[in-house]
Amino acid sequence: MLIANSDRRMVFAGAEKMPQGSTVTKSHMTTHRKEKSKVIVTESSDLPVDIESFKNTLGGLAEVKSIEVPMRQLSSSEEDELIRELADVEALFVRSGIIGKRVIDSSRKLKVIAIHGVGVEQVDVSAATENGIMVTNVPGGNAEAVAELAIGIILALWRKIPLADRKVREEKWSEGKSSGIELKGKTLGIIGLGHIGSRVVELGRAFDMNVLGYDPYVAPAGVGSMGVQIVDLETLLKESDIVSIHVPLTEQTRQMIGEKELRLMKQTSILVNTARGAIVDEKELCSALENSVIAGAALDTFEEEPLDPSNPLLKMDKVVITPHIGGSTRECLTFIAVVAAKDIAKVLRGEFPENLVNRDILTKRGTRAAAIAP
Ligand code: NAD
Repeated sequence: MLIANSDRRMVFAGAEKMPQGSTVTKSHMTTHRKEKSKVIVTESSDLPVDIESFKNTLGGLAEVKSIEVPMRQLSSSEEDELIRELADVEALFVRSGIIGKRVIDSSRKLKVIAIHGVGVEQVDVSAATENGIMVTNVPGGNAEAVAELAIGIILALWRKIPLADRKVREEKWSEGKSSGIELKGKTLGIIGLGHIGSRVVELGRAFDMNVLGYDPYVAPAGVGSMGVQIVDLETLLKESDIVSIHVPLTEQTRQMIGEKELRLMKQTSILVNTARGAIVDEKELCSALENSVIAGAALDTFEEEPLDPSNPLLKMDKVVITPHIGGSTRECLTFIAVVAAKDIAKVLRGEFPENLVNRDILTKRGTRAAAIAP
């Protein structure tokens, strides 16, 4: 069931508060004003939105309602409810829920779907394009948060921080005192040199690591100055002590790390995935860890989330696991809410958004997007 968040009751952003002492003249009161646009925000208890920053950025432009939607494929009755909620809504800001074709096809007033973050697989973008609905995202919005988490879970794994913490609490002080590995002088291999990957390059350099990068879509000259050596994937896998994945999930990257790639890695190396679970063949990863093909893994994303309690990864001390918290920092939530609201505001005012995902919409004759294309 989708729930209208009770603590976030329907809010009329920028409600008409007159400054104290000001006079409301009759003409003010009778001036015809366009009805406010309606905006729906989807969130859940573990996937919150900085709703105050979102509303403040929209100003008086829209009426914002937040509804609780689970982070998964919606059942058909949940989709029916969402369709009802969206009946007279012009903008949808999506943090939770998979927004499929049926919801999009049925939401006749929707002009824009803003995605909370950079990855867009949560929304059926082609259905939105077919319906002339713009899809926006927030590129780079969580780069710092994810990059810092990647380094954090690498340190946690190599210094065995979760294990040490657990042993101390179990009153087994000495058992928590195992020795770890330093980052300095090691080789960090980064797959995908976009917003997050390039920040991980900088952080790796700050730890005096040698950094290798693989990204066929960036010009080596552009990233060379960051102190990363561009190599092919095979070289990166063979030479790195840490392989960290920062590509989007696409048809090309789905299961791009499988048995063959894991076997190319050093036996002492570790795999870090803070991108998307399906980029790694998880069954092959488990087998590589069980058979000491690689030494460990630090994972924030999984093929299936939440993790099934029977998942063998949960039993391995050579694996550090976090529950998809890469982008979960206060700073990141505020940044994303503000950027998404700015783009929604632009679309509602008939302007062109900064971060349009479905640029092919511009060539679709007769759509709103084509009409306002710069
Ligand atoms: P980005 O678009 O800025 O960078 C992605 C880079 O990957 C680009 O440089 C692109 O050229 C490269 N790339 C694409 N296909 C490739 C391929 N086949 N081989 C090698 N490189 C390839 O995106 P970003 O902001 O750096 O984010 C990367 C991914 O991180 C997102 O798509 C998202 O899935 C994931 N992410 C996870 C979290 C989290 O909470 N764990 C949060 C934010 C983003």
